[in-house]
Amino acid sequence: MSMPTEIIPIHLLDLAAEHAPYQAELDAAWQATLREAAFIQGPAVGAFAQALGAHLGGAAVVPCANGTDALTLALLSLGLPPGAEVIVPAFTYVATLEAAALLGLRPVLVDVLPDTFNVDPAAVRAALGPRTGAVVAVHLFGQCAEVEELAAICRAAGVALIEDNAQALGATYTFADGSARYAGTVGEVGTTSFFPSKNLGCLGDGGALLTRDAARAARLRQLANHGQRQKYVHELVGLNSRLDTLQAALLLVKLRHLPAAQAARQAHAARYDAALGPLPVLQTPARDPRSTHVFHQYTIKVANGRRDALQAFLRQKGVPTAVYYPLPLHLQPAYAYLDYRAGDFPVAEALCQQVLALPVHPALGAAQQAYIVAVLQEADQL
Ligand SMILES: *Cc1c(COP(=O)(O)O)cnc(C)c1O
Repeated sequence: MSMPTEIIPIHLLDLAAEHAPYQAELDAAWQATLREAAFIQGPAVGAFAQALGAHLGGAAVVPCANGTDALTLALLSLGLPPGAEVIVPAFTYVATLEAAALLGLRPVLVDVLPDTFNVDPAAVRAALGPRTGAVVAVHLFGQCAEVEELAAICRAAGVALIEDNAQALGATYTFADGSARYAGTVGEVGTTSFFPSKNLGCLGDGGALLTRDAARAARLRQLANHGQRQKYVHELVGLNSRLDTLQAALLLVKLRHLPAAQAARQAHAARYDAALGPLPVLQTPARDPRSTHVFHQYTIKVANGRRDALQAFLRQKGVPTAVYYPLPLHLQPAYAYLDYRAGDFPVAEALCQQVLALPVHPALGAAQQAYIVAVLQEADQL
């Protein structure tokens, strides 16, 4: 099959196309920021924090410089002793682990579930020990980890639950009693990233912390600003980690368009589910009925060692895909000091060989998606 010329090219992410319908709003925000010239901690920063908090059911939002700093600040706010253990899934982006390692905490890796890719609560329970200080759950690819069970495990053990919500902003989790919460607002602290490729991305780096506890929000705000509440009085060892006024102003625009972008991702995912479900060569993403899925990624699993060949076939047909993630954290060279070996986390290791993310960005066109489906159907025949 050759690609019809009107649908060339397909991108894994197409921010220019996504921004085009509201380019004028972004231009206006940009120019207003330039004129007002309050580039650090200008009024847009607080306004954006308020707006995002309201969007997430009333959580306190503390903006910071990026999602990795958010994880660092979340851990710092717990005041853990040096060497305290932090439980982290072996299958996630490295930042989740890096923050703990940089703070001199001891990362303890655990395996994930083969269907949802999220951390396995039973593995978390088994990894708890007297030195455990925190558990970091990651809501991978846009679907919530099992936060009700994880929160119960953490509460019983007296350790903090941190939610790395860089990929699932806007997803909700429904508890056994029927109540629901936004991802990132269940544990002691949630973190998120506004890296351009995230569901709510800015035009550079940005991040935020989420919490329902006003005292913790104040502490996080202080930690993100050199540990000071009052200028030049540094009560805590903190970071210089701020969201630029310019990014906040642009994020205020993009937040208005987030519901439509999320709906577009979910509609693409539903079409993929229906069209690809019957294909034996691949497995569509499992849905946890307790969580909504905001499809930061639409990640299929390709079994029997056929993933790389399928990716090459798609590439040759003009369909970009990506592998998130090709190497589990316990086999990363920088973390050899943790003394893990191949075979320690078999699910994470298998997923690294099987996962493939398809284009699911909001600006993906119907013809483009139909073409991707046709190429996958053709691959299934091979
Ligand atoms: C993107 C991401 C981060 C880091 O965010 P940055 O803003 O790039 O620092 C952390 N954790 C996960 C799961 C991510 O996807």
